[in-house]
Amino acid sequence: MKIFCVGRNYVAHAKELGNEIPDDPIIFMKPKSALLQAHTPFYYPEFTNELHYECELVLRVSKNGKYIQERFANKYYDAVSVGIDFTARDIQQTCKEKGLPWEIAKSWDNSAVIGKWVPVANLKNKKDINFCLYKNKELVQQGSSAMMMHNFDKIVAYISNFFSVNIGDLIFTGTPAGVGECVVGDELEGFMEDESMFELEVK
Ligand code: ZN
Repeated sequence: MKIFCVGRNYVAHAKELGNEIPDDPIIFMKPKSALLQAHTPFYYPEFTNELHYECELVLRVSKNGKYIQERFANKYYDAVSVGIDFTARDIQQTCKEKGLPWEIAKSWDNSAVIGKWVPVANLKNKKDINFCLYKNKELVQQGSSAMMMHNFDKIVAYISNFFSVNIGDLIFTGTPAGVGECVVGDELEGFMEDESMFELEVK
């Protein structure tokens, strides 16, 4: 199982971090060990002093493929969730300044959180899925798939040019504006439309 992530897929988020707007999706990966298993506590990692949440829509790959054409890409995922791409922002910043890979900021154990799955067939409109994140009952991030620069089908097709996609792979599709810090004791809750998808306390 692989976890793909898209960087800078929302204009407002790219700008809040002072990044350029890319033409192609920016793809990075997390290993299987990055996935926080259900009923497992999330602990603040000891190597960072600036842990950021990034709330994102997540796709579940349901078919094996390579070199997938965009117009057929919708056949390769069957469910959507809301998750968090946890990021050690201080470490990422250092890596970026030095032009180095940023895995140690992004791909550590338990840095990928996913909520429950909603079958694509049950979505009213996958081109406009509203999702948001609350921190300590306060709204901190809000987005919609309608605001993405690269939609689900484009992302799947693009990734498949470089990597085979396999059943069970996950794709974090990028975070909207409003990323920020969390500390021990914070409670995070992600929603898709009006439905709570996950709750998590930083331990
Ligand atoms: Zn992200």
